[in-house]
Amino acid sequence: MVTGANRGIGFEIVRQLSKHGFRVVLAARNRNAGERAVSELNRNVSFQTLDVSDEASIQRAAKEFGDKHDHLDVLVNNAGIYPDEGANILTIRREQLTATFQTNTFGALQLVQAFLPYLQKAGTARVINVSSGYGELDGLSGDVPSYCLSKLALNGVTIMLDQKLRSEGITVNSMCPGWVRTDMGGPSASRSVEEGADTAVWLATDAPPEISGKFFRDRKEIHW
Ligand code: NAP
Repeated sequence: MVTGANRGIGFEIVRQLSKHGFRVVLAARNRNAGERAVSELNRNVSFQTLDVSDEASIQRAAKEFGDKHDHLDVLVNNAGIYPDEGANILTIRREQLTATFQTNTFGALQLVQAFLPYLQKAGTARVINVSSGYGELDGLSGDVPSYCLSKLALNGVTIMLDQKLRSEGITVNSMCPGWVRTDMGGPSASRSVEEGADTAVWLATDAPPEISGKFFRDRKEIHW
């Protein structure tokens, strides 16, 4: 399952995973956009409505998933927002911080909680949190306040989930896609979506199964 997958990096992760032979659930908050995205892909891809900022939507999605599938091998927490235009760490409103965390951080954590029974049933499973260089301790920017803090905290979620899940055979890693040409990254970004998706797909497939609780870019471990 890949969240926020109707466009951008998430869509590309779905496309690559389906080429690897996975049955993929493309999750998106907007049904029309999600179904349109599914129709562009092969028959291994199905749609799930999911707003990661909404607790009830996550619970509903877990229930609907369980009606159709008995286990989940890979969860890619990709959905994200970048809403800090015009704000900095001196002006950011508490309300905006909360809204960004709801999507970028709490959504990812609650998804793991809600889908845990299906991840456990997979025997071995992989959780991939799509983070950012803006969440690195050396990458924090006072001009991108809520986004940076939400990705920093998402990396904390990765570390803590790894502590609790490693012994169950569930790996949890963060990755940074680099600066990617999407609606979020803009047209001047240095990377294609294929390049941006690569490390997430590698973590979902070919990465050594003992790797967990780490942060990656370009298939290499990077510092928190
Ligand atoms: P994007 O093109 O803006 O796409 C974001 C996706 O997230 C969209 O499908 C969007 O759905 C979805 N989304 C937003 N809020 C959601 C919610 N509450 N519930 C469900 N889906 C939601 O961004 P992107 O560049 O592909 O980014 C994907 C991930 O990579 C994000 O986590 C981002 O922080 C990270 N990242 C991107 C870059 C970059 O340069 N692009 C760099 C570092 C990290 P709608 O279409 O409904 O809005």
